[in-house]
Amino acid sequence: MQPLIDNARTFGQRPEEFARLAEGQSPEVLFITCSDSRVVPALITGARPGELFELRTAGNIVPPYASERPTGEAATIEYAVEVLGVRDIVVCGHSHCGAVGALVRGDDLDAVPAVRDWLAHATPRPAGAAEDPEVAEGVQSHVLTQLLRLRSYPCVERRVAQGLLGLHGWYYEVHTGAVRSHRPHTDAFEAL
Ligand SMILES: [Zn+2]
Repeated sequence: MQPLIDNARTFGQRPEEFARLAEGQSPEVLFITCSDSRVVPALITGARPGELFELRTAGNIVPPYASERPTGEAATIEYAVEVLGVRDIVVCGHSHCGAVGALVRGDDLDAVPAVRDWLAHATPRPAGAAEDPEVAEGVQSHVLTQLLRLRSYPCVERRVAQGLLGLHGWYYEVHTGAVRSHRPHTDAFEAL
């Protein structure tokens, strides 16, 4: 913790870099990814402050749209699309994902009921080789499920239909730094 505090103490020593951020934000991309500490969207993309709107959840799960029950995830997505007018949404899964691995293996999660119940949103359960530590196949199919889930959000579906919003599925390898993108015409994740 202490190194993080030390960095935070000195972070604001170049105020001229940040002054323009007081005027507002206009990020073009909503980046949805896992809470995993090995995934750092700004490092992967080179984004500067103000360039990426982020939603991070355990297992980069997009919960089903349910207008009768507010969720932080739905509020974040709706704000990004309707208020900020982002032009693209990236759902980025990653190798060695603990959440997706637990789903693929069917782990008993009764000791962590909040995790268990959150992961229950991830239907259909991603398939893949349970012995693969990268859970690549499971994560990639899981990303596609979350992209479909996004289309259940009325604001997303409307903007996609209008050609104002693009949806992208990414797969990030935490052990190499490589990023693959889902290509609809081949239905495969290929190098960016
Ligand atoms: Zn993860």
